[in-house]
Amino acid sequence: MSTELTRNFSIIAHIDHGKTTLSDRLMEVTSTVTMRETSAQQLDSMDLEREKGITIKSHPVAMQYKAKDGKTYKLNLLDTPGHVDFSYEVSRALAACEGAILMVDAAQGVEAQTVANLHLAEQQNLKIIPVLNKIDLPAADVPKCKRQLEDILCIPEDDCIPASAKAGIGIEEILEAIIARVPAPVENPDKILRATVFDSLYNTYRGVVSYVRIFSGTIKRGQRVKLFATSKTYEIKEVGIFTPKMTACDILSAGDVGYVIANMKSASEVKIGDTMTDSTHPCSEPLPGYKEIQPMVFSGIYPVDSSDYEQLKTAMGKLQINDPAFTFSQESSTALGFGFRCGFLGLLHMEIIQERLRREFDMDVISTYPSVIYHVDLTDGTEVIVDNPTLFPEAQVIQEIREPIVNVYIMVPGEYIGDMMQLVLEKRGEVTNTETIDDMRVMLSCVLPLSEILVDFNDKLKSQTKGYGSMDYEHAGYRAAKMVKMDMLIAGDPVEAFSTIVHRDKAEGYGRRLAERLKEVIPSHLFVVAIQAAVGGKIVARESISAMRKNVTAKCYGGDISRKRKLLEKQKEGKKKMKMFGKVNIPQDAFIKVLKSS
Ligand code: GDP
Repeated sequence: MSTELTRNFSIIAHIDHGKTTLSDRLMEVTSTVTMRETSAQQLDSMDLEREKGITIKSHPVAMQYKAKDGKTYKLNLLDTPGHVDFSYEVSRALAACEGAILMVDAAQGVEAQTVANLHLAEQQNLKIIPVLNKIDLPAADVPKCKRQLEDILCIPEDDCIPASAKAGIGIEEILEAIIARVPAPVENPDKILRATVFDSLYNTYRGVVSYVRIFSGTIKRGQRVKLFATSKTYEIKEVGIFTPKMTACDILSAGDVGYVIANMKSASEVKIGDTMTDSTHPCSEPLPGYKEIQPMVFSGIYPVDSSDYEQLKTAMGKLQINDPAFTFSQESSTALGFGFRCGFLGLLHMEIIQERLRREFDMDVISTYPSVIYHVDLTDGTEVIVDNPTLFPEAQVIQEIREPIVNVYIMVPGEYIGDMMQLVLEKRGEVTNTETIDDMRVMLSCVLPLSEILVDFNDKLKSQTKGYGSMDYEHAGYRAAKMVKMDMLIAGDPVEAFSTIVHRDKAEGYGRRLAERLKEVIPSHLFVVAIQAAVGGKIVARESISAMRKNVTAKCYGGDISRKRKLLEKQKEGKKKMKMFGKVNIPQDAFIKVLKSS
């Protein structure tokens, strides 16, 4: 079949600029779903996604549109995850398109995320259709937004389509622009099956459902296919399209977007970005762009109650079936007992997994301080990858350490520019460019170490700008940094749950803060307890807890023996929740408190 009447596109937008509303509206206008169905907002399904205002799984949808030229077109809208943690998935979904709608809230203007998203779309050479949404709002300023798009993103003013997804203004113009401006898919003349898998999910009843875009050839039930990354072959059980419900069809051909179900057991068998081809007549090369997904952030996750260990393992296994980017392996810590070392795509991904463990599996967990991946060159010429402070090599065998860095875009009201530059500097970053967006705001482009924005960067940005600042980032490779491992010694013994990898210049300050916090949460003992932060055997910060036994019965004068006993019982009870470290008892919740606040 000819691909002339097919258009594949995606919508990229900052959170709340109206992507979901526009998708619903497009489905409604093309009669893909009725008004009543759309009220439930079709595309964002998972609760957590809705709360966080992000989409994690792409949900493609096939629409039919009768254009002004009288022809009926097949329009495939590929939704993309709206967060940088999932930028690889976004790039794969975008690679399956020829065009993208760049949506900007006309009352808000361009945001940091708009810039980062546009970069991803441009890398895939997509035709961009700029849409200024929410023109029904009194605060909408179309001419100003057009200028911003032209100045910051080099998008010609005349290309912009003013619209209101909510009021239904400009929808037809958008559809016509998709037909006119987005190129039709071009098929490879050899017509050999080449399909890219841009997402997959695990369905309890159907097994693994792979979302595919066919670049050339056809795919149908009964066909044997091969996946490049694993060289495994499978028999296709079903092919279909999303209307938006999964609807089986006979065949998917070049240009189409749909799903295939084969005999796979776990989502990890299919790698996102991989190429599917015919196993008897395979193509010689896979489609470009495939990468093995690598976790970027690591953290230990431990059950608060150690008897929940097996349950936690089962829960993690279940999460992984649908989310192969999440990794976990067993680890144990003297402080926290048995738990897991987990790998995530980024901080948001980490938060999502932790939250799902709590909500869907009712698990009470504690996580250790997150760490990024370091590439360490050793003096013997080998390279090791370190994702856990306990694996950090001895200083004398280290040649060079490289840490992951990110390009960060920060959008703030002009008056905060000084504070932001200060913040970036504190976080070991540099500002590479400042640009005035409008009479109110500036955009700072910066380069920062990923580890520095992991924990509190966004919170600080929000609090220092009274909530007006926004940021987004993209990964930008690795660069050399003087990192050291810092240990915390309590009464002379290292407690590895508190070990971290920090920059040499920051070790002292960080060590001091950690020691102060530990002093607050560790109870007094019969002897003086020293708390020390050490880098390579050198003490960089110290605190001590003076000796004293809390005499809990002191308040009870006279002979109320039952009350005394009760208090002593209580003290014993309190002791049970402590962990012994050499000679020192540390309350279990000390770890939670310190790790949470550090
Ligand atoms: P998303 O996060 O980009 O998917 O944004 P949504 O589609 O969920 O929209 C965010 C909010 O903006 C919702 O409250 C919508 O009702 C509202 N909204 C979306 N489009 C328009 C519009 O054209 N005009 C107005 N006034 N509100 C809109």
